[in-house]
Amino acid sequence: MDAVTILKTAVPYRFLVGASPANAAIDRDALRGELAAMAAAVNAVAWAPPLADAFAAMRAITVFVGAVPFGQAMLQRPFTDQATADFYWQADEFAQEWTPAYRATYFLHDCWHVIQYQRDGGSAKTIDEMVQREVEAVDMQIAAARNLACDDQFIHFLTNYRNNDAAIRERLQSGYEPGAVCTACGTTKQA
Ligand SMILES: [Zn+2]
Repeated sequence: MDAVTILKTAVPYRFLVGASPANAAIDRDALRGELAAMAAAVNAVAWAPPLADAFAAMRAITVFVGAVPFGQAMLQRPFTDQATADFYWQADEFAQEWTPAYRATYFLHDCWHVIQYQRDGGSAKTIDEMVQREVEAVDMQIAAARNLACDDQFIHFLTNYRNNDAAIRERLQSGYEPGAVCTACGTTKQA
């Protein structure tokens, strides 16, 4: 199986083409190169706890196109299966014009949701808990962005989101139905 090595941990990755649309295609070679570049960005700098440990929380990466089944939902957006620590990264998002360091911060963000899942006894039970977890994950993402020497504009963008309670709630509550999965954080919504 393909894998990228992030801070000495080999993280296997796979490609998944969803059931729809039928003509969905995935550029495996390009995505392999981007994944390797992201790992290289992480590995190029020194990391202190807790971020150093957080990277090791993710067990797998699934790069997908189309809609893929997860629980009771069909998802077309990035999410993380927190129980198995599998980051489902939508290929269109991953392939957009981000730097390898930007991608590394989003990877770290979802690693932190796995840490929360393990530390706090599973998925968030309420929207308020989901918001708390999102704010904490963005704080960790900002710390990672600083460590990766991301530009001020990107850090400003993340900080604005972190401080905008209404925007966080809107994102957490959009894009999924009762009984389905939060596409932002992979947490199961309580109907
Ligand atoms: Zn999140």
